[in-house]
Parts: sequence; structure tokens; C-alpha cells
Amino acid sequence: MQPTDRPLTRVMALHALAYCERLFYLEEVEEIRVADANVYAGRRLHVELADDEELQTLELEDAELGLVGKMDAIRRRDGEIYPYEHKRGRSNNGEAWFSDRVQVGAYAMLLERSLETVIRQARIRYHRDHKTVIVNIDGALCNDVRRMIDRADELRSRIERPPITPNENLCIACSLSPVCLPEEIRKEANPDYESIRLSPPQAGKKDHSHHRSWRSSISQQRYDSSRM
Ligand code: SF4
Repeated sequence: MQPTDRPLTRVMALHALAYCERLFYLEEVEEIRVADANVYAGRRLHVELADDEELQTLELEDAELGLVGKMDAIRRRDGEIYPYEHKRGRSNNGEAWFSDRVQVGAYAMLLERSLETVIRQARIRYHRDHKTVIVNIDGALCNDVRRMIDRADELRSRIERPPITPNENLCIACSLSPVCLPEEIRKEANPDYESIRLSPPQAGKKDHSHHRSWRSSISQQRYDSSRM
């Protein structure tokens, strides 16, 4: 297939893919999208930001990369241009989540090709814990982005949903869990599996206190990633 024959992948779809392949498939191939409270909250954040901060949303596409994306803002500091992304949730202990890194990496690649300049960094503002994380745009991240684009193309040609993620914590804050039904699938595979209640609300009935803090931080990731 020639690069220009590829369907363009939305950067937010890459973000979903980096989170869970099944989520990507449900949203992009089956076109199932659920605008839950987190999605609306994310949209509200962007509206609120628009009131007191100059947001320059910019949509770019590149047929050769196979990408299209709309970034929150582009900023310049010390002569360097970088994408700036707002996230409603908290950071991963002061670092960017992998899916967020893929997202800003993809924006940086689009921007770099559009402006014909080198983009060395992106910044992500996590509003829940008031952290701004710098993401270096290096070869490893660009390779991750390209790998994700290729994987998106592969998944689009499949006729079956990918399996559920083995990481049940990701399902807790996933807006598509009512469609995906991961707990039912886990229970079917293992009758001894103790199901957690995913929606609504996301609090489970059994005691998860031994890993509650980790679950909480994972949930924050999806809170943010579910915004458009
Ligand atoms: S509920 Fe879990 S397995 Fe299903 S799409 Fe969401 S994260 Fe993936």
C-alpha cells in the first residue's frame, strides 16, 4: 500500500490505541462512542480554558505519516516551538502517561513536518495535580508513534474485536466498559474471578483497598484521555 493510500488516523485514536487496543477498535472500527461524564468534563475544561487563556487549536494532517490531529495550543519559548496539551486528570507521579506521550509525540511530528522545523519537546499540563510535564520528542517516541499508526492500520482490517486488556485497572475508568463488558468476559474465562462493578458508579463492591491508590491514578488517566 502506498503511504498516501492509508486512511488518516486521528491522533486521539492513537491515544485510545495506546490505552487499550480493544478501545481503539470499538471507537474507530465499530464507531461506538460514549460521551460519559468524563468526556463532558474534559470538554468543559477546554471551554473554561478558552475564557482565560489564549488557546490556539490547530488541525494538521499529513498523508505520508497517515495522521490527522487537532492540538490544544502551540507555544514558543526561548525560540523553540512546542505543542502544549491540557489534561484534566493527574500526571503519572510527575511523569506523562504513555498514551499522552504518544499523543503529544504525534502532534510534534505533524508540527515538525508542517513547519519544516525541529520540535524537541512537548508539554502536558495536568490540571488535577497542577503539574506541567515536559516530554522530549526523541527517536524512541517517534518510533512508538509510527508503530501505533501501523498497528491502527492492522486493527482496522480485522473483523474481530481485539481481546480485552489484561490490566483490569484500565477498565475502571473506561467510558466503553458498558459496551465492552470486560468483567463478564473475565468471569466467563475464570468462574472464580471476583468481578468489580465498572459502571455506574465505578466503585467496586469488593475490597480493593490493597491497590486502591494505583487504581485511582489509572482512573485519572482515562478521565482525561476521554475528552476530544
Ligand atoms: S473496558 Fe477495558 S478492555 Fe474494554 S475497551 Fe475499555 S479498557 Fe479496553
